[in-house]
Amino acid sequence: MSPYIVILSTGSELTAGRSLDTNSGWIANQLFELGWKVKKFITLPDDPKLILSELQSLQTLAKERPVLAIMTGGLGPTEDDYTLETVLTLTGKTSYSVEKAKLRLTKIYEARGKEYKDILPNVFRQTFVPEGCKTLDNSVGIAVGFIESLGDHSYLVCMPGVPSEMTEMFKRRLVPELKKFYPRENLVQKTKWLWNIGESLFQNDFIEPNRIEFFSEAEWGVTANRGYIKCIFQSTNEPLLSTIIQRLEETYPKIISDDVFQFVHERLLKDKLTISVAESCTGGLLGKKLTEQPGSSSYFIGGFLTYSNEMKSSLLGIPMEWITTHGAVSEQVAKAMVEGLCQKTETDFGISITGIAGPEGGSPQKPVGTVCIGLREPNGNVSVHRYIFPGNRESIRENASNTALFLVYQSFKH
Ligand code: AMP
Ligand code: MG
Repeated sequence: MSPYIVILSTGSELTAGRSLDTNSGWIANQLFELGWKVKKFITLPDDPKLILSELQSLQTLAKERPVLAIMTGGLGPTEDDYTLETVLTLTGKTSYSVEKAKLRLTKIYEARGKEYKDILPNVFRQTFVPEGCKTLDNSVGIAVGFIESLGDHSYLVCMPGVPSEMTEMFKRRLVPELKKFYPRENLVQKTKWLWNIGESLFQNDFIEPNRIEFFSEAEWGVTANRGYIKCIFQSTNEPLLSTIIQRLEETYPKIISDDVFQFVHERLLKDKLTISVAESCTGGLLGKKLTEQPGSSSYFIGGFLTYSNEMKSSLLGIPMEWITTHGAVSEQVAKAMVEGLCQKTETDFGISITGIAGPEGGSPQKPVGTVCIGLREPNGNVSVHRYIFPGNRESIRENASNTALFLVYQSFKH
């Protein structure tokens, strides 16, 4: 039986609205990919009484059915970190300091030129866990995570709130345990991306017509991103899953892709091809995305950040009259940008982006969100693509740089 899953985030900064709870959503997505659906998010301030009362309700629920409660936060060194103390009250147990964590902490202190005796008691406290629980090592920070029993097939997982510590602990330490607690046999998952389409349209055009045929034996989920939606399908019936993907590819031949960031990275490496960029409205965002993966220096040679007309002209060799005649945001200028770029860099791929990120600067002919992307392919072919992206400035810039990578993906595919 799959567990009743609750995610609890603790932290007064969260309930005061000073910080956003990104942990819960991240965990829920990860759990979905493992085949589990979350029932509830609970966000609580650093108030031990409130936290205890929520945990007691979950303990009561665990008498009726398996419960999995995943809690983040409150394991730090400050006086508002109440998680361990609350769990000890809940279970009536005592705690002990995990030897491995103690050693790690000592090493960290020694590396800073300090000694064991210099370790502050509240820092040391982070190495403590309830006796008899399963510990979850922290390979990023100090606080040790742990899994406590909540009843039959029911567990309370406590992890640090710091996202970099929590995500690492979740993937490396917790997932193997969860798979042992709640085995899901032969669950297969496939993910595809669809570009420039909304979630509701996808639901109308793909999920509804195929609901009876596909989705009694398969699960689906969608997450919206800048420029694309990520569609996840799961089933224990692998042939069915392949049929779903085939139908998806037939329905959306022009806008479907895999993870373009990963794909473009792998293909540029494998085919030993190079790429350069000429960016205007994205201000270097595309260059950032192309250098995110280690090893990107094998293919990304650099680019030009030509925000002003003068720079477009002087660095990329576009005549000023050309820019004033057609406008800086135009197919003609995007084309000239990518041609000028590749003359200078001699890379296999070249991408240019020029657009109106807003909120000012739009016109009826060229509304805010208008972006022209130029692409030069290894065979020398140059094409220009014009879009009107939705959303605010940030969204338009993200859309533009992601879509540029999708164009490179398509060039590899076709
Ligand atoms: P804690 O483990 O409670 O000491 O949390 C340490 C820091 O992690 C907090 O100051 C926040 O910046 C961050 N943090 C805690 N909980 C969350 C959460 N649910 N989502 C995102 N960040 C968080
Ligand atoms: Mg906290």
